Amino acid sequence: MDRLPLIAGNWKMNKTYQEAEELLNGLVKGIDNNLEDREVLICPPFPFIDLAVKLTEKTPIKVGAQNLFWEEEGAFTGEVSGKMLNSIGCKYVIVGHSERREYFQENDVLLSKKLKIALNNNLVPILCVGENLPQREAGQEKDVVKSQIINALDGFIAEEIKKMVIAYEPIWAIGTGKTATPEQAQEMHNFIRLTIADKYGFDSAEEVRILYGGSVKPDNIDQLMSQMDIDGALVGGASLKAESFLRIINFQ
Ligand code: PEP
Repeated sequence: MDRLPLIAGNWKMNKTYQEAEELLNGLVKGIDNNLEDREVLICPPFPFIDLAVKLTEKTPIKVGAQNLFWEEEGAFTGEVSGKMLNSIGCKYVIVGHSERREYFQENDVLLSKKLKIALNNNLVPILCVGENLPQREAGQEKDVVKSQIINALDGFIAEEIKKMVIAYEPIWAIGTGKTATPEQAQEMHNFIRLTIADKYGFDSAEEVRILYGGSVKPDNIDQLMSQMDIDGALVGGASLKAESFLRIINFQ
C-alpha cells in the first residue's frame, strides 16, 4: 500500500500577522504547484489561519490548526471548535502535542474526545505521541508510546483510525537540535504500526500515516524519509522559514 507522504509545519506560537504574511508569500512563491506525490500542510496560530487559507488557495498547501476544543460549541470562553476550523477551510488539526500535554495537562482521555470532535467536523487529526528523555534512558519508550496510543484511540473503529495521522515525536528531540537517528525512528514507527495492527487490524495499520517529529531539518529529512515506516514529518523550528521548509518539502 502506498501511503502519501505528508510534510507538516507547526508554527507554534510564533510570528506576527505581517511576519506570517511574509512567510506565506515565500511558501506560495517557492512551492511546486504540480506536487502530486506528497502532501504539504502548515499549521499556523489561530489568528493567521484564515489568511493562510486565502493566500495558499491556488497552491497544493493545506492548512491545519494546532489545537481544538473537545466540545462541539457553547459557553467555553477562549476556546476554538472543530466546526469553526472546518468553516474557515482547515483540513487538519494537531492533537496532543507534547507541549499541550506538558503545559496544559492534556491527558489521553481528553485527547480521545478531541480526536472524536475532529473527525466529526471532517478534520484529519494528527495525534502526537512520544517519550521523554528519562523514559528513553530507562528503556520505557515503547511502553509509553503504546499506552498513549491505546488510551487515546480507545473506542474508535478501524475505519476511523485509517483517517487519522500519528506523529511520533520523542520529546528529547523537540527543539533541541537532537534528532532520533533514522534507525531509532524507524524502529518506533514500525512498533506503532504493529500496535495499530494488533488492535485495529492489518488494513488500518497499512493505511495510517506515521510522521516523525523532532528537529527535522533540511540536512536530515532525506535520510529520515528513506525509512520504510516514516510517512512524513512534523516540523517545528524549520517550518518558520520558507527556504528551509521548502527544502524539507522537496525531500528526495
Ligand atoms: C514539534 O514541536 O512538533 C517539533 C518537531 O519541533 P522541532 O522541529 O522544532 O523540533
